[in-house]
Amino acid sequence: MTRDVVVWWVKRDARLADNACLNEAERLGLDVLPLFCFEPCLLAADDTSNMHLHAQWQAVSGLRAALRNHGADIIIAHGEMVEKLSKLHAIMPFTHVFAHEEVGNDITFRRDVAVAAWCRERGIVYSEFPQSSVRRSGVNRDRLQEMWRSRIVDVPPLSIPEVRQTDQLRQLAASTAFPKLTAFTSNNDWQAVSEVDAQATLANFLDHRGRWYRGGISSPNTAFTAGSRLSVHLAWGTISARQIWHAVRERLAALDPEDPQCSRWKQSLQAFLSRLHWRDHFTQRLESEPALEFQSLHPSYRDMPYENDERLHAAWREGCTGFPMVDAVMRCLSATGFVNFRMRAMVVSFACHVLHLDWRLIHPHLARVFRDYDPGIHLNQLQMQAGVVGWNTIRVYNPTKQLCDWDAECRFVKHWLPELQGAPAQQIVSGDRVTGYPGPIVTFAERAKRMTEVLYAIRKSPDAKAATPTIFVKHGSRKRERSQRGKQPRLSKRTPTLFDNEPSE
Ligand SMILES: Cc1cc2nc3c(=O)[nH]c(=O)nc-3n(C[C@H](O)[C@H](O)[C@H](O)COP(=O)(O)OP(=O)(O)OC[C@H]3O[C@@H](n4cnc5c(N)ncnc54)[C@H](O)[C@@H]3O)c2cc1C
Repeated sequence: MTRDVVVWWVKRDARLADNACLNEAERLGLDVLPLFCFEPCLLAADDTSNMHLHAQWQAVSGLRAALRNHGADIIIAHGEMVEKLSKLHAIMPFTHVFAHEEVGNDITFRRDVAVAAWCRERGIVYSEFPQSSVRRSGVNRDRLQEMWRSRIVDVPPLSIPEVRQTDQLRQLAASTAFPKLTAFTSNNDWQAVSEVDAQATLANFLDHRGRWYRGGISSPNTAFTAGSRLSVHLAWGTISARQIWHAVRERLAALDPEDPQCSRWKQSLQAFLSRLHWRDHFTQRLESEPALEFQSLHPSYRDMPYENDERLHAAWREGCTGFPMVDAVMRCLSATGFVNFRMRAMVVSFACHVLHLDWRLIHPHLARVFRDYDPGIHLNQLQMQAGVVGWNTIRVYNPTKQLCDWDAECRFVKHWLPELQGAPAQQIVSGDRVTGYPGPIVTFAERAKRMTEVLYAIRKSPDAKAATPTIFVKHGSRKRERSQRGKQPRLSKRTPTLFDNEPSE
């Protein structure tokens, strides 16, 4: 007897474990035809880069190997999704398409709508399944904690189901190969992305590295090992937040109170869990307010007097501003695709507050050099660091202070700026000129002051003050109110408030 066939459309969920699409297929007794597609509309997008293509290629290669171990295979395609589904349907009339609920940019949103419409017109069942606590089309933020509990805390990760696939489907899938993409390059400095690597990264973090998380993630010298490094896996879906959350809880429960390191481990893992939670907080905001890809969340900040000087923009991108910490971070990102939260925040703050570049102008480049590019976190953080959300602290990171605080011996900056290698750390930290390295491209204090005055003037304006509470109620974090034992969310009379800032480091 022939069974109905479901196309499992693999997007940012390249894993077998804790995958609702596969479990639903098993529950319904469907044959599964996994499909991953390199889509020209995404390849051409200004926030896509080789680093992302390479991450997807690795993730899907790993998935193919895992599927083959289960006696199945995946179709690897190149083309627009609707066109590919049409062609596939002509040779293999599937009855269902399953995908995860992606919260991406405007291109992926419109593409998903087109696929859903194409399925509907043909009577094909199209179902999307959540892989986080984010609720489609928005949620009252008072219910976010409840969503987290019901989707992440109270439900153990799904185990790998049987992947049923006929010989015919397997042969069809096995006959497809990765397309030769002209833009495709690889680099050994990029973090490996696959389900196997995700599990190894998690295990290693929980067994060894996690102990140094608290305190270790602030400096670019230590964050590469003290951070979980799970962001690429979460971004491309080679692990789920639920898998991570449950593994961390198990580890916390297994801590030995007699162990002298117990308290350190506990603090570190709890700090880590709160950051994991922030991911969904921001993703929910993009889901509820997709326009924030193009405009600031707060209407009063939509007409900022940015200069958008292309010379300054190019110097920032290339790491040639004459501010060693900024330049080292920008070059490190281009080479590795990673840097820690504080350094990401610093380069955005510098670009917007000091170089006077619009957060929308710097967005594509930063997205391209983040191997863990995740629009929900990224767009929100850009706006927060640019100070245009309206209620979080306006924070101007001084790159010289960051250098003194987190790289006083100049190990990080010397690694990424060969021009500085021969100079004594004291000379670099004190801002004295080093031969062969450019002087500061702008005067920090004067330009930062000018931009913060603009931001504070907007914040104090009657229009902004009138709009802030409504936006906050819709999008702000309830973290502080929860700790106030059930009191109503309340905005401080003195702006800025701190509700929605990043977790402290
Ligand atoms: C301007 C800017 C842009 C950013 N863009 C991205 C992005 O595109 N993709 C991305 O994954 N992270 C982004 N971040 C957040 C953060 O810098 C990275 O998640 C973190 O550095 C990744 O390292 P890790 O996995 O070791 O993180 P850990 O500290 O181990 O955190 C674990 C996970 O929690 C989540 N997380 C951590 N910090 C935050 C935060 N402040 N807000 C929301 N979620 C958080 C991430 O999924 C992360 O992998 C951005 C931060 C800034 C300031």
